[in-house]
Parts: sequence; C-alpha cells; structure tokens
Amino acid sequence: MTRDHTPPADADARRAIAPVTCYPTESLPPVDLAAYRAARDGWQMISETIVPPREARCFDIPAGHFFRIISTEGPQVGDLNLWSADLTERFYSGKTRALHGTHLTTGARLWSSFPTMRPLATITNDTLDWYGFDQYGCGVHDVIGTRCDPYTHNLLSKGGQYHHCCHSNLTRALSDARNLPQDRAEALVHDVLNVFMCTGFSRQTGQYLMKASPVRPGDHLEFFAEIDLLGALSACPGGDCSAEHSSDAAACYPLLVQVYRPLSPPQGWRAPLPNGYDRSHGISR
Ligand SMILES: [Zn+2]
Repeated sequence: MTRDHTPPADADARRAIAPVTCYPTESLPPVDLAAYRAARDGWQMISETIVPPREARCFDIPAGHFFRIISTEGPQVGDLNLWSADLTERFYSGKTRALHGTHLTTGARLWSSFPTMRPLATITNDTLDWYGFDQYGCGVHDVIGTRCDPYTHNLLSKGGQYHHCCHSNLTRALSDARNLPQDRAEALVHDVLNVFMCTGFSRQTGQYLMKASPVRPGDHLEFFAEIDLLGALSACPGGDCSAEHSSDAAACYPLLVQVYRPLSPPQGWRAPLPNGYDRSHGISR
C-alpha cells in the first residue's frame, strides 16, 4: 500500500479525537457463568473425537451440552467452524469480533449469521485466560484471522497446490460427516475461531501477526452449546503457528474434542430464540 497525500493542517487534532466503543454490550442478555459452571457437576462425557494433525473432524453437540477442545500432545492451533445442526446457521466471526473484541475468552458468545443472529455457543472456561495481551499486542483465540486456505497459498506461492490447509480440511470433514457434495460443503465452510492461536496486528503497518501459541498439553477451551450444533475442528498445518502455514514443515499434533451431557441444564437457561428483527427492511408491502 502507499500513502500519497500530505496531512492537512489539523491532522493532529483529528487524530487526537478519542474513540468510543462501537457496540457496548451491556444490553445483551447476561451470561450467567455461575449457572453454566454449576451444571458441570456430575456431567457425563458422551463422545470423544481425535482430530489428527493436518486433518479436520466433525462432532455433534446437542443443545444444553458442553464441549471441550483439548491440547494433548504438543502446541497445536485449531480452526473451529460451528453450524446449527440443520446447517442453516453458521458462526459469524466478524460480528462476534465486533461485539466481543479481537480475541475471545470466558463469557464470550459465538454468534450466528443473519438473519437468526443468536448465540450458538458460550465460552465457559479457558485455561489460557491468563495470557491476556502481550507486549506485541498479541492474544489467544482470535476472531481476526480467517482460516488458512489453498487459494491464498496459490497466490502467495505463485501457483502452489497444497491440500491440507484448514479450509480444505474443514471441507472434507463436513462433506464426510453430512454426505454432502464437496462444493456444497466448501460453500458452508466459514471464517473460524482460531483456537489456541496467538495473534495480533502490527501497530505500524496494521498487518496480521502470529507467534508461537502458548498452549501446552492439558490446556482446554470449553463451550456450552446454546442450540443443537455441528462443530468441525481442523488441526492447522501451521502447528503452533510460530512460522508458516500451508506446508508440511511445521510440527503438528492432534487435538481432542470431548462432548459432555450435564445432569440438568444450567439453572434459568433457555435456548436462545432467533433474532427479533422483523426482516421487513423498511419495505412496505
Ligand atoms: Zn490453518
């Protein structure tokens, strides 16, 4: 990019205007973390899915259940997609970012796309919440990246063909799980929650930065499913994402997904209804 124009006389004054938060979230339905966490007492694990390195796997999570993404063998980043079980709603990474910020931790919700725009899942525990933001402005579990993909790789590598980017892994996993033609599955794959990935933006250039994930075996990120969900998780070919994507060079490890059924739903919990906007868009019929 280039910047061609001389700053105007009042450039400093314009830059000095203090920003405001785009979307104050105080009016959103509150997250009752104590109720979610109390519901874990006596829960029962009902499924386990191992996601092999440089592959993805799907898993079903019924409404009112919990799931954990767990590091088991070594530092590994996971790219998460979430759909409603009927595949009509998908995770909306951009709106989740606008509401909750660039990196998610306990108490954040993962929102669905328009027109339903409702919480698909709520984060109920994050063993990496201690990381916060480091001296480079980097944090963990971002909704600023997209997912590594073979199209960007093809452009940047001048023609490279690599088939185990998260985009392709998620496409294969969804196609297998729901017996969908590959092009239909690919169209349903969407921007991710970058689980365990450590990322930020350069203050000088605005460019997207990544660094070695602080995740270690035993760490996990835990979610509560607000509606019936299908999840897909890719063990990124970037491994801990300290150096590069889209190749077989990085050390990669499996990830584990566990789904838990509570004895009873969290006290006071009700599955969120689709968004209340009437969808008339100002058009009178
Ligand atoms: Zn990836």
